[in-house]
Amino acid sequence: MSIAVRLTEVRGRIAAAARSAGRDPSSVRLVAVSKTFPTRAIAEAYAAGQRDFGENRVQEALQKISASTDLEIRWHLLGHLQTNKARKAGPAFAVIQSVDSVELIEKLEAAAAEAGRSPELLIQVDLAGEATKHGAPPAEVPRLFQAAAACRAARVVGLMTLPPVPDTPEDSRRWFRQLRGLRDGWLSSGVPAAMLRELSMGMSGDFEVAVQEGATMVRVGTAIFGSRNG
Ligand SMILES: *Cc1c(COP(=O)(O)O)cnc(C)c1O
Repeated sequence: MSIAVRLTEVRGRIAAAARSAGRDPSSVRLVAVSKTFPTRAIAEAYAAGQRDFGENRVQEALQKISASTDLEIRWHLLGHLQTNKARKAGPAFAVIQSVDSVELIEKLEAAAAEAGRSPELLIQVDLAGEATKHGAPPAEVPRLFQAAAACRAARVVGLMTLPPVPDTPEDSRRWFRQLRGLRDGWLSSGVPAAMLRELSMGMSGDFEVAVQEGATMVRVGTAIFGSRNG
């Protein structure tokens, strides 16, 4: 199956999941996760109308970004960003979904101001406390909102989470619900709604459940581009 056909299929599944939850399908943005795939695959998805692309590794992303400057792509950084790389890498992305410390927000804000950019930042929330994963524990997130309130160039616009790998899509539901519940709690405790507009959750194995639970962005790789190991 071609990338274009698989994209159409994924878009259809997102729309059906949205309707099943009484949501407007256009309220869910599809981020095509192109990590490990060549720029040729990105161009193919672009030709099929895809505009948001996500990458995990900074080096790989920067190479693909400079190889596709002729395309009007919104690049999302999904993987961990070291604070010492924020200045160089930060301004290359329209959206950075992996923000997990006050220091990183401050570095990204300084880099954005210097570069005359206004990237969107998502706070990555670590729900399961897995040692191998990044993200801020929920108890630390209010400090990140405080740091975000001082930003003038970069804008925190929501939350992202990467739950434990599920055996079945339903396994992820509790984590998606938990992120939405945290969002609702922070909203009622006075965090500005503009900082909590987006919920980035759901991947190839569980994006329909994520849409049912309120995702505004789903990050889908293998269901669009095929398997990464073969
Ligand atoms: C790789 C990756 C995805 C996409 O995973 P698939 O299972 O291929 O859809 C989504 N989010 C993050 C943070 C990733 O690293």
